[in-house]
Amino acid sequence: MKKRSILRRISALLLSTTMLFSIMGCKNSNLETTQLSFKPGTYEASSKAHNGDLKVQVEVDDTSIKSVTVIEHGETPNVSDAALEKVPAAIVTTQSVAVDIVSGATYTSNAIIEATKIALQEAGGNLELLNVKKEQTEKVEDIEKTADVIVVGAGGAGLAAAVSASQNGASVIVIEKMPSVGGNTIISGSGYNAVDPKRQEPLGIEDSIELHYTQTYEGGDKLGNPDLIRTLVENAYPALEWLESLGMEYTDNLITVLGGLFPRGHKPVKPLGTGYVDAYMNYINSNDVEVMVETKAEELIIEDGIVTGVIALGANGNKVTLNANNGVILTTGGFGANVEMRQEYNKKWPTLDETIKTTNAPGATGDGLIMAEAVNANLVGMNEIQLLPMGDPNTGSLSGKVGVGVASNVFINKEGNRFVAEDERRDVMTMALYEQTDKWLWEVIDSDTYPTPESKNNFNQTITELVEQGIVIKADSLEELAEKLDLPYENLKASLDKYNEAVDNQGGDEFGRKILEQKIDTAPFYAGARSITVHHTMGGLEINTSAEVINKDSEIIEGLFAAGEVTGGVHGSNRLGGNALADITVFGKIAGENAAKNKLK
Ligand code: ADP
Repeated sequence: MKKRSILRRISALLLSTTMLFSIMGCKNSNLETTQLSFKPGTYEASSKAHNGDLKVQVEVDDTSIKSVTVIEHGETPNVSDAALEKVPAAIVTTQSVAVDIVSGATYTSNAIIEATKIALQEAGGNLELLNVKKEQTEKVEDIEKTADVIVVGAGGAGLAAAVSASQNGASVIVIEKMPSVGGNTIISGSGYNAVDPKRQEPLGIEDSIELHYTQTYEGGDKLGNPDLIRTLVENAYPALEWLESLGMEYTDNLITVLGGLFPRGHKPVKPLGTGYVDAYMNYINSNDVEVMVETKAEELIIEDGIVTGVIALGANGNKVTLNANNGVILTTGGFGANVEMRQEYNKKWPTLDETIKTTNAPGATGDGLIMAEAVNANLVGMNEIQLLPMGDPNTGSLSGKVGVGVASNVFINKEGNRFVAEDERRDVMTMALYEQTDKWLWEVIDSDTYPTPESKNNFNQTITELVEQGIVIKADSLEELAEKLDLPYENLKASLDKYNEAVDNQGGDEFGRKILEQKIDTAPFYAGARSITVHHTMGGLEINTSAEVINKDSEIIEGLFAAGEVTGGVHGSNRLGGNALADITVFGKIAGENAAKNKLK
């Protein structure tokens, strides 16, 4: 049902794009298209995108490209929407395949361009002519606007803040530097931790706010701010009910999110973080909240120590000045995608240079930290950077993962050897992976540890699709697996024999692995490559429990609020899985409420 509605939305989008640009294609016959020539007709071609094959349909007449439509793809909803809309449109308006990539959706953009090139070649098009870049000239105007509350960054924290400020009577403008809203929130696993007797008791789970507090505080090595943690755990459930009041839906089946320590994780009905963004956007689209995408905040306006607005760069390179009657809320997320900043603040890991990818959306570049520091904001816990040993070696994404749980996999290095207990803490596994050739591991499973060929991972991918796309290697014997992975068979065999023996004996695993439930001995075998990836930056702006930003002299910076991953102090040195969604919602909501009540002028 849900999936169908997403598909329907995508088809509607595609249809309107096709219609719109078929018309624009006609209008643009003066765009030096005279030299182009095609065999008129409709052509289809595919290319590899982020989550597998993407197929386009291209319609041409004698001299021009009439329409480009993406007719099949497995890209993540919302994240790729802007590329699916803009790239085909740009190809038709400019009559060229040398069009700009939509930032944040590089793989999708490139796949559309590549597939279109193939289709146009089939239609007899001259690629050299088609590759000539044509500028789309647009009028550039500076903009100045005023609202009660300006929210910077439209991820989960920003959208929560915008809705809550609006519900508290404020007019709101949200700016987002990427072409679409959602940030990391929309691509996250999205489990939400909250003590919830209504759902927990029927499942026989005894939980308490106190336990959630203790686990969060101790799980962060007692480095988190106790007041912020208390605000988080006490408000997690009321904030979840608030989300439900906006249309957010969770299943009743609570989970322990990986690294979450307790079954209090609420799993959304919709995939990844799309449910949160849809719920907020439903509210935003029918209330006094304006969202400006492709608008990048660059500087806070400060007058006599009070933050009164933001200066941003607009989509066309124009200056956008936004004045706030009540205050500015920074919700720009972390700095996981900013290599320079990672290197500057990292103290723990051997390196966080560009060889280490990230699970984060490309917008996570720490802009809010830089802007707030310029107005004397205090930063806390900046060296606490959480890595995972589970990213796609090429993209850093958690998509494409072959394993379905800790119980059913082993990690094999490029020499065919195991090197760590696979049920260890994330940081221990990651540190061990730094020592391996190319920081590379193969996650190896066998056929009877995988539920069914149709079972989907978090990213909606089946093992069958992953094998077809070459992301996962399938082999009918261990010898074949060793050959396909290009590693010594004897080592691979010895590694698995030893592991299987430890399962038989229920102990004695050479790396101290405790979960010894399933042997890996039944062909076909599967292996997927994984590497180190930056996941969450725990440090950031110091805030108080009202989400007000604190300066280096421990005073409140008037007019400036912050929430979400841009802030520090909640998670200490280690964030529990499932606490991030609760954090961004609770503090986003608080920031919105308080900014709405805060009159500056
Ligand atoms: P959180 O989980 O704290 O909400 P997200 O990463 O989900 O964080 O969202 C942060 C959002 O802020 C992203 O969509 C990102 O593109 C956006 N953003 C980051 N820097 C800026 C900026 N300078 N101007 C506008 N938006 C920004």
